[in-house]
Amino acid sequence: MKDIMDSIKEKDPDQKEFHQAVMEVVDSVKPVLDRNPQYRKANILARITEPERTIIFRVPWMDDRGDIHVNRGFRIEMNSAIGPYKGGLRFHPSVNLSILKFLAFEQMFKNALTTLPLGGGKGGSDFDPKGKSDNEVMRFCQSFMCELFRHVGANTDVPAGDIGVGAREIGFLFGMYKKLSNEFTGVLTGKSLNWGGSLIRPEATGFGCVYFASEMLSTAGESMEGKYCLISGSGNVAQYTAEKVLDLGGKVLTLSDSSGYIYDEKGIDRKKLAFVKKLKNVKRGRIKEYADKYKDAVYTDRDQRVAYNPLWDHKADCAFPSATENEINHIDAEHLVKNGVRLVCEGANMPTTPGGVTVFQDAGIFYAPAKASNAGGVAVSGLEMAQNSMRISWPRKEVDQRLQFIMKSIHQACVDVAEEYGTPGNYVNGANIAGFIKVVDAMLDQGLV
Ligand code: NDP
Repeated sequence: MKDIMDSIKEKDPDQKEFHQAVMEVVDSVKPVLDRNPQYRKANILARITEPERTIIFRVPWMDDRGDIHVNRGFRIEMNSAIGPYKGGLRFHPSVNLSILKFLAFEQMFKNALTTLPLGGGKGGSDFDPKGKSDNEVMRFCQSFMCELFRHVGANTDVPAGDIGVGAREIGFLFGMYKKLSNEFTGVLTGKSLNWGGSLIRPEATGFGCVYFASEMLSTAGESMEGKYCLISGSGNVAQYTAEKVLDLGGKVLTLSDSSGYIYDEKGIDRKKLAFVKKLKNVKRGRIKEYADKYKDAVYTDRDQRVAYNPLWDHKADCAFPSATENEINHIDAEHLVKNGVRLVCEGANMPTTPGGVTVFQDAGIFYAPAKASNAGGVAVSGLEMAQNSMRISWPRKEVDQRLQFIMKSIHQACVDVAEEYGTPGNYVNGANIAGFIKVVDAMLDQGLV
């Protein structure tokens, strides 16, 4: 196993996020390899850590002034052992191969956990939609799809949204795909409702995350009722996490964006959440404006020189990191534990550093890794694909029930597998091992390809 890590680091020394994601899985699956010598014989770790295909392309586009810009586009087709590649597109200046390979690697296991036939992929661009006009975003998306369209397809690779890619971007991407391929197929998920989208898809990641948290609490005979919650981010995942926390009787104290965070002692209720949705999804404003409107709330600027994020330093019961990777380091984790937080459920992908994870596990609190707790989004994307193939759409209640059932199944799989491998209550091991076994067994069945 050390050889595998050394070889990955030697091949791609700068891909730190990818190394971090692989290391976590490799740590968990050691007992699985010990019990199953056929995996070692098949050199499965080397095979599973190398993407099946990596596509990098130029994306030229013109801004409203007529100036020409060039961004870089990516698609990582990580693993198709159990279904077509599936995973979101991220548009953010921080996007690079390391970030996308870590996301695609995580996605492969997450998708396996959903019980649906979905392989793993991820893509995106270092393009920043922030501050761009709708027309500029449209021209960028069209140029991006002009290359991507030859690599994707309803039965090949089905991208979705992620950071910086919401309903607007999916619409522009789909429009260009349809024009180029002359086909109306479910090549993207997260589509708008009136042209092939699924009910509950926008809500799915946030709702699913809170369903997962409820399942964890129920093992201790508790519920979300009356729980004080810290949430980071104010995008898709954060908004619907907040909504479901409110539905289940909890109280939401914080939200953030990359500039800073708001703390509302009185709680972010439905009316205030509606304001946030409009602010972020329509006006594309900053979270600071919340504190301008609601005077009880305090806004704090993000100070990058400080080694911790003060958002995580408030008294609460539960934390839902829902912004981005590595947003909780070991100091933040210590603050959370010190402040009485007993449950951390990840909405964002890999938001906790390895040091932070150790703090949670040593403290013995409930800790759900993203690949289990945020799988609701891709699960409903899988349901969107199924509805598109059948040319039907299920009612809201039906999709929500399926989502709840899937989150319950993922939770149970994590609990059972963690116990089977001698680490009861360790959701990291449970998720990594359950996802890993499903993918590698399929790879072995399909031979050396
Ligand atoms: P959005 O773009 O809708 O929102 C992202 C939020 O996080 C924004 O508030 C953004 O602030 C903030 N943010 C982004 N980058 C940073 C950063 N470097 N530091 C601080 N804050 C940051 O994205 P989503 O809500 O869709 O995604 C959030 C997380 O959830 C990501 O990790 C994503 O991979 C994960 N995820 C999303 C799924 C989905 O269905 N959407 C599915 C599974 C996982 P600002 O506006 O300032 O950029």
